[in-house]
Amino acid sequence: MKPPTGRPIEVERALAALTSAVEPPVETEVVDLAAAVGRVLAQDVAADRDFPPADLSAMDGYALRSADAGVPGAVLRIRGEVRAGRPPEAGVEPGTAVRIMTGAIVPAGADAVVMVERTAVRGDAVEIVDAVVRGQNVRQRGCEARRGTVVLEAGTSVRAAEVAALASVGRARPRVYRLPRVAVLSTGDEIVPAARDEIAPHEIRNSNVPALRAMLAAMGIDAVDLGNVRDDRPSLDARIADGLAHDLLLVTGGVSAGTYDLVSAGLAARGATILFHGVAMKPGKPVLAARGAAGLAVGLPGNPVSACTVFAVLVAPALRRRMGLARWESPELLATLDEPLSAKAGRTTYHLARFETRGRRLHARAVDSRGSGDVLSMARADGWVVTPSTGGEYPAGSELPALGWGGWPGQE
Ligand code: AMP
Ligand code: MG
Repeated sequence: MKPPTGRPIEVERALAALTSAVEPPVETEVVDLAAAVGRVLAQDVAADRDFPPADLSAMDGYALRSADAGVPGAVLRIRGEVRAGRPPEAGVEPGTAVRIMTGAIVPAGADAVVMVERTAVRGDAVEIVDAVVRGQNVRQRGCEARRGTVVLEAGTSVRAAEVAALASVGRARPRVYRLPRVAVLSTGDEIVPAARDEIAPHEIRNSNVPALRAMLAAMGIDAVDLGNVRDDRPSLDARIADGLAHDLLLVTGGVSAGTYDLVSAGLAARGATILFHGVAMKPGKPVLAARGAAGLAVGLPGNPVSACTVFAVLVAPALRRRMGLARWESPELLATLDEPLSAKAGRTTYHLARFETRGRRLHARAVDSRGSGDVLSMARADGWVVTPSTGGEYPAGSELPALGWGGWPGQE
């Protein structure tokens, strides 16, 4: 299983090579707020007005002049009421207070609001129980953001919080980056569609294409399914040509020793430049990356666990960068081992693992797996724990970097 081009490179180098080969997105589109979720902002977004737009009350209570209630027990005449959703009314005169609702504009003259729970009504007057401080319970105009301040930067992923911000500044149709066009192709004479009922022992159902498409879908990308090609150059080269028209082509199988020449030679024949072939990772060592005229291609090993591991470790960060995300790197979270783990020296090893949060901490235990061909063992895992190429024995309680499906622990 030795990759063809000499010594495999370290994972960090492969990641750097792949992510730096990624072209940042340039094309953008304007979408509705609902469709913006999961997309990446292509422009800085500024506050279109002050936030809040006026001095607003943070409480139901009484708006008053703090100078009138500097000591406990002040009694002020009640002069009307202001409610949310109405323009400001007459100001507050000395010695008076106005009943006010949360979100209503604090009337001119008033500089504080006392919550209703700390008052007592006495006929047409109100007693203010405590001493009042200037500005209390008033959300000052512009205290959250001044008009023109950038509140969301280009490269931000749109989630519910960003939707709230976009809606609040009136960006009901934000400009986002176009999603990368990704194509997925599998190779292998033995590979048949998953939907096939009749299946012979020499045939294997295609799990890589659906799994890769699922991981892409989790990133918001609806990948083009180029199906499966048989292990012959004419079929492969033709399909590779189709695939290379995309921003990213993922090919599974045909990259390891014995069959390696198929995908790398097919890519080279279609004008792609090989960036690397062989990474010191386990599983996934035969992975190759190439740059074509329109985008990048990654050849993933056919073994299902290898293909998914390579996707999470190398492809997902590169793709996040291609999507325009400022935060594209996978976070280095640590998980505490519940059971000991051993790793051989030589390669960064990704151990399939089940995660559990206990005492608000991430715990992990390696799952039982027969190896990189054991597709079913992946379904027992939430992701991976990672051991360095030095290898070693890791007793229970050791802390190791953890990676979840798609790159984030706990995020499926
Ligand atoms: P290869 O990398 O082509 O040598 O394939 C390695 C192993 O992965 C072989 O046992 C293949 O049958 C298996 N394999 C390759 N492609 C797929 C696929 N699309 N789905 C499931 N298994 C695959
Ligand atoms: Mg094959």
